[in-house]
Amino acid sequence: MQIPRLHPDTIEQVKQRTDIVDVISEHVVLRKGGKGFVGLCPFHQEKSPSFSVSPTKQMYHCFGCNASGDAIKFLMELGKHSFSEVVLDLARRYQVPVQTLEPEQRQEFQRQLSRASQLYEVLAVASQFYQHALRQPQGQIALDYLQSDRQLSLETIQQFGLGYAPPGWETLYRYLVEHKRYPVQLLEQAGLIRSRQSQDGYYDYFRDRLIIPIYDTQGRVIGFGGRTLGEDQPKYLNSPETELFSKGKTLFALDQAKSAISQLDSAIVVEGYFDAIALHAAGITNVVASLGTALSLEQVRMLLRYTESKQLILNFDADLAGTQASARAIKEIATLAYRGEVQLRILNLPEGKDADEYLRALTPEHYLKLVKAAPLWLDWQIQQILVSQDLKSASQFQQVAQHLVKLLKQIDNIDTRNHYIRHCAEILSMGDARLVSRQEENLLAQIAPNKNYAKSMLTKAQKQAAGQASTAGSFTDAFGYRSLLEQAEALLLRIYLHCPEQRGAVTEALKERDLEFSLSHHRFLWRQILETNHNVIQNAGHRVSTAETQLDLISRLQVRCLEFAGEEMALVSHLFHVDEKTQQDLLRASQVIQAASATMERVLCEKQYRHFLQLWQEIDETADPERSQFYYESLSIQKRRLEKLDRQRQFSLTDLI
Ligand SMILES: [Zn+2]
Repeated sequence: MQIPRLHPDTIEQVKQRTDIVDVISEHVVLRKGGKGFVGLCPFHQEKSPSFSVSPTKQMYHCFGCNASGDAIKFLMELGKHSFSEVVLDLARRYQVPVQTLEPEQRQEFQRQLSRASQLYEVLAVASQFYQHALRQPQGQIALDYLQSDRQLSLETIQQFGLGYAPPGWETLYRYLVEHKRYPVQLLEQAGLIRSRQSQDGYYDYFRDRLIIPIYDTQGRVIGFGGRTLGEDQPKYLNSPETELFSKGKTLFALDQAKSAISQLDSAIVVEGYFDAIALHAAGITNVVASLGTALSLEQVRMLLRYTESKQLILNFDADLAGTQASARAIKEIATLAYRGEVQLRILNLPEGKDADEYLRALTPEHYLKLVKAAPLWLDWQIQQILVSQDLKSASQFQQVAQHLVKLLKQIDNIDTRNHYIRHCAEILSMGDARLVSRQEENLLAQIAPNKNYAKSMLTKAQKQAAGQASTAGSFTDAFGYRSLLEQAEALLLRIYLHCPEQRGAVTEALKERDLEFSLSHHRFLWRQILETNHNVIQNAGHRVSTAETQLDLISRLQVRCLEFAGEEMALVSHLFHVDEKTQQDLLRASQVIQAASATMERVLCEKQYRHFLQLWQEIDETADPERSQFYYESLSIQKRRLEKLDRQRQFSLTDLI
């Protein structure tokens, strides 16, 4: 379809009607933060939210990647749509009459708008027809089913608009087309009738079924669910996908549940229509039903718009199929949960009951108690891993540990992950408090992201080869690394001495990387520096100005060091002077500080790397696979650290150090 040129009035009206929070929350989980909302930026990868939305300004801004704009720009960038496409979409959504600059196109868009309202109308009329049929003699069987099997009151039946589709192939068709004069195509587009394949004509989509209308959030009928009253298959039949109805974007009873969800700040999702209806009838009204087993991201985002603390309770059947259904249902939204964007709890009712059965046997208060006690999704998964496993059996212990590691690896949120590492370590320690930190260390080593995991199962010969390969390209034979350290430490000291304004940065870099000067003459000089500084502060009574104390450091040190006319003094005295080459280093002091401190850290890190390499090469991994794995993982951690440090040093590797 060709996109028309839009009338400026239309654009203006769309801008006025559009709510940016409404638009963005369909794509991003937003939390209230300050005057606006915050969430994870959809335009760049991030783990902590820097994307903010301001309802007062109707603007978004990302502090991570600087993306910003209004609702229209958001949709354009997200979907790579043109301006007109986005404005048209929003016009449909907010029911803004479209004016284009070409009259024919204007008519076409008006037709589309009015077709939507005609679809709503015919669906509403069909729903009234079904409700009426429920109260006729032919609907008695359906009404009996609702009242005795489901124990629903007339009031609840009315509240949910439950109805009955009479048997016969053309009952609804005749009523709507012959009696009410609706066009046949409209009925077909609404999913109410189907054309016959073998001959001309149409037949009713729902026949001899109990009818459950499905409403959108604004309370308009958009489709139906039909339950068989006999042996017909399928037991439940939903309207086909139409312009208005899409299973993955709809939640049953959300129109009735939304205010309770925001009041109670949590939503319960059940599997079946009648679970939701029974809970509402029992006064638990923050409940919706998914229309298939799997819960889509879109459905969840719809729900999350109503709950500020993003609490979702999934109440699916607890039998084996139900457990698998829960796992399946969560699949798509798992990422949200691992990132900590939604607080997901899993409620399995005892004896595999569904909510409807449970309420007929027990009270709503019992149900609410279970809701309160429902485990968080991660805890639930851990429970599932532990079900009927005996940790005292070595093979089962191993299996459980592996599953836990796999689970922990998926948790993106660092705080959450640390919490669960501790928790899993406690489980694996089986009550022996002395083992907890060892297990924790073990888990930590194993969940560090590591693509070369398979490498841990190498032969000894392969290991040696791997060891040689991985140290090739490093710079540290005994002489090499001493000279590197010598240069790096000297650079830091020289900067400290000659650039008073960089002294804080030097101290900070050492502290941050947990470094000390390791060559004895440098340690000597550093000690003198600290003591001189200390004395100056002690003598502050003499009112020496800060500038004076800093500038004076070198001469003070020289006086002080004269007392130590030894070898160490000889090794550091060149640091008190600046020549042409070292002058260069002082000019770009902050880069030099970074490179030099990274080099010092790298030398330490390589020592550790070699230590673990040796341990790993020497261990017999068939005898102690766990320890071997631990060494290998530690090796990988050090290896990654080395790579990172090399990147930090890179800019200066050739000309500085
Ligand atoms: Zn961003």
